Amino acid sequence: MSFEKLNLNKPLISSLDDLGYIEPTPIQEKAFPIIMSGKDVIGIAQTGTGKTFAYLLPILRNLKFSAQKHPRVLIVVPTRELVLQIVKEIEKLSSYTSIRFIAIYGGTNMATQKQLVYNGVDIIVATPGRLVDLSLTGILRLKDIKQLVIDEVDQMFSLGFRQQLLSFLESLPNKRQNLMFSATMNEEIEAVIAKYFYQPLKIEVAPHGTPLEKIIQLCYHVPNFNTKVNLLEYLLKNDSALSKVLVFTGTKKLADSLYEVLKLRFPEEVVVIHSNLSQTARINSLKQFHDGKKRVLVATDIVARGLDITDVTHVINFDTPETPEDYIHRIGRTGRANKAGTAITFINEAEQEYQVAIETMMNKAIPYEAMPEEVVISKVMTDEELPKMIDKIKQKKGKDKHVAGPAFHEKKEKNKKVNLGSASIKEKMKGKIRTYRRN
Ligand code: ADP
Ligand code: MG
Repeated sequence: MSFEKLNLNKPLISSLDDLGYIEPTPIQEKAFPIIMSGKDVIGIAQTGTGKTFAYLLPILRNLKFSAQKHPRVLIVVPTRELVLQIVKEIEKLSSYTSIRFIAIYGGTNMATQKQLVYNGVDIIVATPGRLVDLSLTGILRLKDIKQLVIDEVDQMFSLGFRQQLLSFLESLPNKRQNLMFSATMNEEIEAVIAKYFYQPLKIEVAPHGTPLEKIIQLCYHVPNFNTKVNLLEYLLKNDSALSKVLVFTGTKKLADSLYEVLKLRFPEEVVVIHSNLSQTARINSLKQFHDGKKRVLVATDIVARGLDITDVTHVINFDTPETPEDYIHRIGRTGRANKAGTAITFINEAEQEYQVAIETMMNKAIPYEAMPEEVVISKVMTDEELPKMIDKIKQKKGKDKHVAGPAFHEKKEKNKKVNLGSASIKEKMKGKIRTYRRN
């Protein structure tokens, strides 16, 4: 089946020719006629299978030239990086037309965006926060929106955009087409669909949460941060196949800590991205990694959804993701557009419960690799790991002594003392970690 068989127009066919794409992917083929018919659609297909063009092709096919100022198509995504990526995809498909589109996202000058909106626009690609801010100014009016796309909606909920999402959904005209695309679904989203979509048709290429067959998955059982660092270092040093490596950590703080350590061991090879960095820093890190100038990108889940980074060879879950959905999206940054890819997950004892949930959803066990002998198993805990250990000791002591519980105001005093105590242990341990890390 070539693209010719979809009811495309000349400008789209020419653009696809320029891109060198020969045939539509299964989700593109299935979604096209249904979206063209005007129905609401929920599209579920695995990561990297071309969901963006699955909605862009019919949208662009439908969009007639108009001089009107207010946008007719609204595409909402959870992160700024994804906004920029989707705008690029529209650019690729619209080089033979005069369609007007803009990117609306936070961390940038709102005045510039206001001016662009004021000049007139057909398609808006936005993050929910800035979208709501702009429509509150009165310059951006959503009353002419005919088609709404929500891409990667579940991450919007996890990033706390719930309120903004529901608020602009309320401000859209009733008569519109709703489209939603993702590799995973959850109950919260089903509720939004039930409330805001009209008799949606579900197009499912693979059941929700099915990982791509092409992604080789494996895991290691690793006790703590420092041993995880040792293993990562070992893999990066000994396996040259790890040439474009995306490393996910559980928090921004851990991303920074890991970046600091890796920077010493692999100077000039590592960049980092998370939401506490400036927008310029975020864009730079991503670009350097994307262009192959840096070998390793240390990241939080901010880049786990939707981002299409060329030829990522390995995804490493330095921390096991807490939900199976996060796992599917993270590993889906590799193995895109029929390429090969490997996903390696580091699992400590506490993270084994996440592993169970992930394997249950995939209905498949992640093959386990034995720890290479050369990797030193560290007994040194980090600042984050220490308090947990102290808690354990405290619990044990409490059980042994079994003293009567103090009154409420006394408890506060007690907590203060414990905090001071753990801080001094932390200080002592810090010295150890430093010595250790130099090894
Ligand atoms: P998803 O949203 O399903 O994760 P994307 O839409 O980001 O996937 O597409 C993944 C990659 O596949 C992109 O680099 C995209 O340009 C490419 N792609 C999309 N459609 C086709 C096609 N029909 N043929 C070849 N490559 C395609
Ligand atoms: Mg996508």
